[in-house]
Amino acid sequence: MRYISTRGDAPALGFEDVLLTGLAPDGGLYVPEQLPAFTADEIAAMATLDYPALAQRILTPFVADAFSDEELQSIIEDTYAVFRHEAVAPLVQLGHDQWVLELFHGPTLAFKDFALQLLGRLLDAVLQRRGEKVVIMGATSGDTGSAAIAGCQHCENIDIFILHPHGRVSDVQRRQMTTLSAPTIHNLAIEGNFDDCQAMVKAAFRDQGFLPDGRRLVAVNSINWARIMAQIVYYFYAGLALGAPHRAASYSVPTGNFGDIFAGYLAAQMGLPVQRLMIATNANDVLHRLLSSGTYARQTLEHTLSPSMDITVSSNFERLMFDLYQRDPTAIATLMEAFNDGDISLSEQAMANCRTRFDSCRVDDEATTQCIADTYARAGYLLDPHSAIGVVAAQAGAATAGPWVTLATAHPAKFPDAIARAGVGVEPALPPHLANLFDLPEHFEVLPNDAAAVRQFMATHLGA
Ligand SMILES: *Cc1c(COP(=O)(O)O)cnc(C)c1O
Repeated sequence: MRYISTRGDAPALGFEDVLLTGLAPDGGLYVPEQLPAFTADEIAAMATLDYPALAQRILTPFVADAFSDEELQSIIEDTYAVFRHEAVAPLVQLGHDQWVLELFHGPTLAFKDFALQLLGRLLDAVLQRRGEKVVIMGATSGDTGSAAIAGCQHCENIDIFILHPHGRVSDVQRRQMTTLSAPTIHNLAIEGNFDDCQAMVKAAFRDQGFLPDGRRLVAVNSINWARIMAQIVYYFYAGLALGAPHRAASYSVPTGNFGDIFAGYLAAQMGLPVQRLMIATNANDVLHRLLSSGTYARQTLEHTLSPSMDITVSSNFERLMFDLYQRDPTAIATLMEAFNDGDISLSEQAMANCRTRFDSCRVDDEATTQCIADTYARAGYLLDPHSAIGVVAAQAGAATAGPWVTLATAHPAKFPDAIARAGVGVEPALPPHLANLFDLPEHFEVLPNDAAAVRQFMATHLGA
């Protein structure tokens, strides 16, 4: 399988190289040149597979150039063995035609573990084989950083530097990052905001001259193709449990960077019967406004009760746009260049293509806490604020296309403040493996909001 850039001006790469990069050199994002597709009979034959076996079936075509069946199998089995539920991604019924796909049984209690536990192991295998070392650098407002560190903590060939805004990450999220300790793990608390952190990471990727010869930066945010790929599997897993290929479900996805829901779109392109894909957003509703008006327009960031969805632009939307414009890279390059300077309008044809599959819904903090309270009262089930946004959106879409599966993207114990705001009267407990989170020593370095200081720190703290 070859991977091409959405902007058409970068060399096509095989899986190993796409795993080891971030953005394409032309500023685009890598996508498969051609997606694998499964027939209804092939999908019917998947119905009996457990999660790791299903992952093997779905992922093999994407990675076959780089990994043998045996290698992939052992990596996948290791990856999903660290999840703390037998089913890995259990499906729970909340009401008639309403289901929740629990994606929070991984080490850091958020769906990002599905991809980052796999990514760390794939990288380790490739680096060992090549005798190379790389540097992971990422910015986080919470979930990405902890999942990335947990995914790479055992990799000797990876130094990982995660920047977070000092004092602006929740206690649980910060401790999930800073209580893991290894010589290769570096938590940098930047005296600035998330955008400052993100800007430093972007600048470092553009100019990697501060790294010693032979080292390069690898991205762990969802612009890395391997993350998207891993997420396709659980759409199949839920769809099969609800009767695929004979019955089509709809999926409601709490959305920030559009990585998770884009994986659902890919699952549909690969043959999984899917009715609707619901983009569920908080007050940071750039995609909801786009679906409503056809205009893609940045707005100032709002801090909400669902911080992992607080974004102004959804980077992975470019991957969908590429398809909405019949895979015309020139159209995408032109549009994205214009978007650097201000708002853009998508063509009517592109918007019509988008609406054949996608709906959108904006859910504010009040509706979020209301849903947490209602769901607890009705079903005795505690939703985290991100998942609650998905449930509200699924209920909004339910008149048309059931059964609805909401992706539960985080465990409620990660967001105790939002649960308290909902007034349900219970405090979600951290699972046993994290019960001592508040007793462990923390490791992080406070650095000024200064790119040169960060680069200097990194250059001097790399493993030999
Ligand atoms: C990252 C995250 C999201 C958003 O996922 P995207 O792939 O960025 O759209 C939603 N909920 C939680 C809990 C997250 O950590």
